[in-house]
Amino acid sequence: MNASPEEAAAFRYPDSPVFYRDLERTYRIAKRASGAWIETADGTRWLDACGGALTISVGHGRPEVVRAAAGQLEDVAYVHGAQFTTEAMEEAAAMLLAALPPAYRDAKVYLTPGGAEAVETAIKLARAHAVATGRSERQKIVSQRPGYHGNTLGALAVSGRDSLRAPYLPLLTGMPLVAAPWCPRCPLKLRYPECEVACAGEVAQAIGGASGDVLAVLVEPVLGASAGGFAPPEDYLRSVRRTTAERGVLLIADEVLSGCGRTGRFLASEYAGVEADIVVLGKGLTSGFVPGGAVVARREVVEAVAPDFRHGFTFSHHPVVAAVIREVLRLIRDEGLVRRATSMEGEFGAALEPLSGKREVERWWVRGLLAGVALHPAGAGGISARQFAAAAWERGLLVYPVGGPEGQGDLVVLAPPLTVSSEEIREIGSRLTAACE
Ligand code: PMP
Repeated sequence: MNASPEEAAAFRYPDSPVFYRDLERTYRIAKRASGAWIETADGTRWLDACGGALTISVGHGRPEVVRAAAGQLEDVAYVHGAQFTTEAMEEAAAMLLAALPPAYRDAKVYLTPGGAEAVETAIKLARAHAVATGRSERQKIVSQRPGYHGNTLGALAVSGRDSLRAPYLPLLTGMPLVAAPWCPRCPLKLRYPECEVACAGEVAQAIGGASGDVLAVLVEPVLGASAGGFAPPEDYLRSVRRTTAERGVLLIADEVLSGCGRTGRFLASEYAGVEADIVVLGKGLTSGFVPGGAVVARREVVEAVAPDFRHGFTFSHHPVVAAVIREVLRLIRDEGLVRRATSMEGEFGAALEPLSGKREVERWWVRGLLAGVALHPAGAGGISARQFAAAAWERGLLVYPVGGPEGQGDLVVLAPPLTVSSEEIREIGSRLTAACE
């Protein structure tokens, strides 16, 4: 599987003109992708157990989505969102609302160029809401550590990922970060259920500060990559919802990673029966065919800021993004992919079970088609997530490595396409186990 000398010379920094995401590795040319597989120029096939960045929902290379995008490119590739709407935009928004619980039926959908831009949009909308409702003293967003909401400065300011924040700290405005409901490695060193979800109390405390300057609470209903895709106790989200409602603070659910069926419900927050005021989506919404994200805002929020939500991007409400989302949502609906994520959970767990006996593995968890593996720290008999991913790579398996918090082991996240077959799930399990060895 090693790169040929020609390839190694050409596709690495500094030989290539590309400013790569990783300046230390050698890259291969990806030539084709279909279902759960990616093929490189040298003919190697890679089993994609993580959908790149936990992104692929309906599978790679779906011809239906390609045709939908091509058709839109031919009809009208671009119009400015302040001048025109398109059929694709109108229908994508209607289909998205139809996929959501009834509380969102009269919500509004704002398309964005990506997940971080959707988070930025949600934050600005929450702030615009505070200003429009006469509460302009409210300036803070409460979020969690660990947590991740994107790499733009605004999204990073509310992301509890110290390693990503460190060089940019002077550019990030101070936002309160409280303990995430991350039971496997509780930041408060407590145990569920005896803890009585003390981390939810931290949210209430942060809101209750004397200045009353909190405008919204931002949560990942199932924790994202930074916490290995762990599904917290449902009382957490319920408690946060109660507190935000009581204090007149908006609740923003970041479902960029957990949404669009990944965890076995269209929204992960459905497990707790909680409806947020603003929902943020991305990743699986376009299944990676084009970059894109969306903000779903409840009607009351939009009405408060109307007619002037001062915001927008050149590429918001993009017709091709809308056409892709419309088709992806149709596939998710018609192929029953949300239910499929639930029905595959048992098989996925069974495939991961052999990891339990491995010295390097602290524990693992699964919810729908999202799974996380917590590794022991490298110095304490474990391995780093990078080493794990490299071993998986050697076996033609793609996994998503995440650095653990200071002093704790790393994490590996798995999120195969929702269309993954039973056989592929078993293959993921056996390659993972082999990678451990
Ligand atoms: N929110 C969550 C929960 C995410 O997992 C991510 C991406 N990992 C983002 C926001 C940012 O999305 P993007 O990378 O598309 O900007």
